[in-house]
Amino acid sequence: MRFEHETLPQRVRFAPGDAAASVLAEVERLGGSRVMVIAAPGESDLAAQVTAGLPVVLRHDDVVMHVPVATAERARAAAAAHDVDVMVSVGGGSTTGLAKAVALTTGLPVVAVPTTYAGSEATSVWGLTEGARKTTGADPRVLPRAVVYDATLTLSLPVAMSVASGLNALAHCVDSLWAPRTDPIAQALAGEGIRALAAGLPTVVTDPIGLTGREHLLYGAYLAALAFSSAGSGLHHKICHVLGGAYDLPHAQTHAVVLPYVLAFNAPAAPEAERRMATAFDAPTAVEGLRRLRRAVDAPLALRDHGFDEAHIDDAVRAILEVVPAGNPRRVTAQNLRRLLRAASRGADPATVAAMGG
Ligand code: NAD
Repeated sequence: MRFEHETLPQRVRFAPGDAAASVLAEVERLGGSRVMVIAAPGESDLAAQVTAGLPVVLRHDDVVMHVPVATAERARAAAAAHDVDVMVSVGGGSTTGLAKAVALTTGLPVVAVPTTYAGSEATSVWGLTEGARKTTGADPRVLPRAVVYDATLTLSLPVAMSVASGLNALAHCVDSLWAPRTDPIAQALAGEGIRALAAGLPTVVTDPIGLTGREHLLYGAYLAALAFSSAGSGLHHKICHVLGGAYDLPHAQTHAVVLPYVLAFNAPAAPEAERRMATAFDAPTAVEGLRRLRRAVDAPLALRDHGFDEAHIDDAVRAILEVVPAGNPRRVTAQNLRRLLRAASRGADPATVAAMGG
């Protein structure tokens, strides 16, 4: 067994019902005395709860999904104008993403308090969009210094969004099993992540105001992000990245829809990953495990329901082919990619993708 694995330096606290005290402790550890709180308008009540005891000099709510460059520039200027020394982000991946964009150019430390299951808080990946083009990169400066997970903060996330976001986390696990830098540690994290998410998702659907399912999802989302951060982007993420950036599709729902197609496509050519996933799902096969889970939680079905127009398929295929990871278990061609996107667009049975040739 020979591999190299990098563990990112970050403090993590799970503190159900107790985020405020944990955030205060983390801000004090960082010596923060001029705090910028970043939270979208829909997250401001949660942010107010969490940041009540902090030395806040600025509350910033100008948050936009996929972080347009102009949005990042406004936040950077506001941080400079208020002489901020620590940022606290309270919200989903878009909010965390804005804090990371500010950290990228200023080096300001971030304490992240996630309220969805996107997992951005545990990666050093940043993303910015300009026009229809999304650029991502990895930089140690953007990794939040501390993360505070408090499942009570996710109780207000509507069930449909919780399902999409939890499946986004599941996609981090699945894709990290065959991503370019996958290794046994990332695979172990991914397997445990799948187990936790597969347990948490149906529980959140049947008991949305209970904490048990939400805690499973946060724990699974964190493991998923660690696995993804270490293994890098596999085919699934490359597809979703192109679709999300070029056609302005909602992030979590896009991942939720595309995942079964990429799994069905790659799994027959990745038997070890397949066995690990099947075990984690407690199902005869990985594809069947995901099918059962998606049915139990009424998962989003088709890209066209989320704003994707099939007229874009050929353009999307061209853009995706340029970024397909070299080590993908199956050869990706214009023909099989076109069929995969068409099936995902219409919500067709993923088994049709498993069977197709090059
Ligand atoms: P989001 O942050 O856009 O949140 C979706 C909606 O839910 C927003 O309106 C938000 O205000 C609301 N919301 C969030 N938490 C809530 C709560 N607890 N209760 C009620 N409403 C709540 O969506 P997302 O899926 O979390 O994040 C997507 C973004 O994150 C994308 O831009 C994606 O590229 C990025 N992302 C980055 C990484 C990375 O490693 N860099 C990883 C995953 C996602």
